[in-house]
Amino acid sequence: MARVHNFSAGPAALPESVLTQIANEMLDYQGCGMSVLEMSHRSSMYQQIIDDAEASLRRLLDIPQNYRVIFLQGGATLQFAGIPMNFMRTGRAGYVVTGNFAKKAWKEAAKYGDAVKLASSEDTDFDRIPALAPVRERASAGDLDYVYICQNNTIFGTMFHELPQCGDAPLFADVSSCFLSQPLDISRYGLVYAGAQKNAGAAGVTVIIVRDDLLEDGPAFAQTPQYMDLRLQAQKGSMLNTPNTFGIYVCGKVFRWVEETGGLEAMAQRNWAKANLLYDLLDNSQIFHGTAQKDSRSIANVTFRTDSDELNAQFVAGAHERGIENIKGHRLVGGMRASVYNAVTMEDVEALAAYMHEFEAEHAP
Ligand code: PLP
Repeated sequence: MARVHNFSAGPAALPESVLTQIANEMLDYQGCGMSVLEMSHRSSMYQQIIDDAEASLRRLLDIPQNYRVIFLQGGATLQFAGIPMNFMRTGRAGYVVTGNFAKKAWKEAAKYGDAVKLASSEDTDFDRIPALAPVRERASAGDLDYVYICQNNTIFGTMFHELPQCGDAPLFADVSSCFLSQPLDISRYGLVYAGAQKNAGAAGVTVIIVRDDLLEDGPAFAQTPQYMDLRLQAQKGSMLNTPNTFGIYVCGKVFRWVEETGGLEAMAQRNWAKANLLYDLLDNSQIFHGTAQKDSRSIANVTFRTDSDELNAQFVAGAHERGIENIKGHRLVGGMRASVYNAVTMEDVEALAAYMHEFEAEHAP
């Protein structure tokens, strides 16, 4: 069996032990004679699967009791609309625009009310997290229903290293591409959400963690579809309708794997070791340059390029020949991107680094 070095930004590499367990349980889940794919979501066996997944996540993130965990479908993109539909109660919220996904969320929110752009790094092609003082100043006016950030910008390889101060407004964060990469103090947020397809499992599940007092008044709009009504979804234990049963089962497996491999502190150490191996290489290279400003660099997505589109293409093609896959950068940035999520091993990153050295030796002036 030949597995490649998979640096995909998502859907992304999953731990081999998780994939093996899933394969082993495919025909007969724990002696019940069927797979999880074939099981009713109303069965007690499935209830145990979703309860175990939530319990594992609660242990990992030390989620306070007054927060609810919800597993939905529709990806992070559905929550770009779901968040204003639920929480734009007075009709105004603040957005920090740090990349493509933050901008999409901001634009979506503008359909429902006044989406105030509090800060942006678009003027420098989203190569950094902007200064956060304007967020604090604007939020201190006290008229924002929430402040929204995209904590790790998958495409641009940037990440918040400190959170903005939002006055009385709750902080909402899209943590899709840094979820379970490192510890997260849930009590600092009103809501966090993540598409599972990077660090938490398979595409098709969005994990939402939300403070329960924010749900008390129900959605902000009477016409909010019931599927998007987070209060209802929380009341129904994510089973208002048929959930992504298999996807949630995969999440549960991944959560357990994170616990068994030392939890989030250990994960963060391993992830920074992997990312820093590449950042150090970039900082000392004559031909490769990191595209994110140093103080905004991501733990998960390392973006870089050479000065020539032709060399970039050659690098990607050569990587493929060496079993290094999904290394091409997003079209908005170009160049290359190595996503070093939890299941990417140090050996994978060392293989990439060795190839980068080889390429540099061949092409450096
Ligand atoms: N937010 C972030 C940070 C992402 O990386 C992505 C996708 O890669 C999205 C949102 C959109 O996610 P989805 O495709 O699940 O809607």
